Amino acid sequence: MSDCIFCKIAGGEIKTDFIYEDETVVAFRDLNPQAPEHILIVPKKHVAKIIDFSADDKNLAAHIFVDVVEEIAKKIGVDEKGFRLVINTGEEGGQTVGHLHVHLIGGRKMTWPPG
Ligand code: AMP
Repeated sequence: MSDCIFCKIAGGEIKTDFIYEDETVVAFRDLNPQAPEHILIVPKKHVAKIIDFSADDKNLAAHIFVDVVEEIAKKIGVDEKGFRLVINTGEEGGQTVGHLHVHLIGGRKMTWPPG
């Protein structure tokens, strides 16, 4: 999508340091980190939100949660200590960027409930 900031980042139009990249996914540090480690995992394909994933996206969804999360968690050293995954969805879910992304947040003790 031409006016989508995460499409521009994923496509290289906005230069960003990727902590992870493969054919389908990029991951980079959040501009406004909520913890010592705050990574955004973003499919390169424009999908607005999690419920817009279609049957064709099952491999992509599985790849993110089976492969990419583990690789990044190990890379930033939170795989043993623990971390939190967040997918804000829609207005009441707190989503501010309309391109699906998974927040991987770690490096401190998390609290519950979230705000
Ligand atoms: P959400 O509110 O769940 O939609 O998350 C959007 C996240 O994207 C926020 O945590 C922002 O800080 C982050 N963000 C927005 N623009 C950028 C950017 N250019 N680079 C890195 N993170 C960004």
